Amino acid sequence: MTKLMDGKRGLIMGLANDKSIAWGIAKALAEHGAELAFSYQGEQLKKRVFPLAEKLGSDFLIECDVSDEASIDALFGDIEAKWGKIDFIVHAIGFSDKNELRGRYVDTSRANFNLTMDISVYSFTAVAKRAAALMSDGGSMLTMTYYGAERIMPHYNVMGVAKAALEASVRYLAEDLGKDRIRVNSISAGPIKTLAASGIGDFRYIMKWNEYNSPLRRNVTIDDVGGSALYLLSDLSAGVTGETHHVDAGYHVVGMKAVDAPDI
Ligand code: NAD
Repeated sequence: MTKLMDGKRGLIMGLANDKSIAWGIAKALAEHGAELAFSYQGEQLKKRVFPLAEKLGSDFLIECDVSDEASIDALFGDIEAKWGKIDFIVHAIGFSDKNELRGRYVDTSRANFNLTMDISVYSFTAVAKRAAALMSDGGSMLTMTYYGAERIMPHYNVMGVAKAALEASVRYLAEDLGKDRIRVNSISAGPIKTLAASGIGDFRYIMKWNEYNSPLRRNVTIDDVGGSALYLLSDLSAGVTGETHHVDAGYHVVGMKAVDAPDI
């Protein structure tokens, strides 16, 4: 039986360990026949990322710090040299100073505002431009966002502002690249315990709140996100672009605390 991603090659950015959302996505894609390349942020993560990539049959790993233009150029240079073209990219990257992911948004510093926007927002546009140049047969791009872009969430602060800008970028990129049959979408995932999430104040409370109040009465997993990513990166979603797709056990439709939610 042919698989959904047979014959497709793509890049996964943002794998840190086996808790990463990027790992849930990579597993689903590999299981359905995709050939994967991975970028990792630095030497420290290399020893974690290599064995994971190996498990999915990939030895194509490239170091890339997305705050550095030359590093992004080198990444896509390597992909062009090895593959010539690419069918999809996954951008699962975000960063902010954890000291500002607690307390008040109004206290955000200019330096951390700029850093957060640079790594969590601009990097997707920078990557999209290079990837699009290699998508000669069309393609699909995916980034990761959170409900804190649409509504105030405790402690999410500048990251919420960045995710709102990221979601707007998805829509503008969808328009720019649509004529070349390139689709651009985001997944808005519910809270998942990962390295990046551990920097957010009261994260355990946020997870409990979502578990008790989302229509499905549970939190989502990286495998839930992987399944939806597979749909958005495969031809199953050929008519979908510019979308923010919620994978959050339905939490975004909730108006107030559930009647059966315990006190926390
Ligand atoms: P994670 O810590 O596993 O992944 C974050 C990744 O960002 C890491 O691999 C890290 O190396 C990478 N990164 C940070 N700065 C970088 C830089 N300068 N250059 C290259 N890479 C860099 O955490 P995660 O939760 O899997 O995060 C993936 C994405 O999902 C992020 O955009 C995050 O905001 C988003 N997201 C997470 C949740 C959640 O609850 N965990 C919910 C919604 C959205």
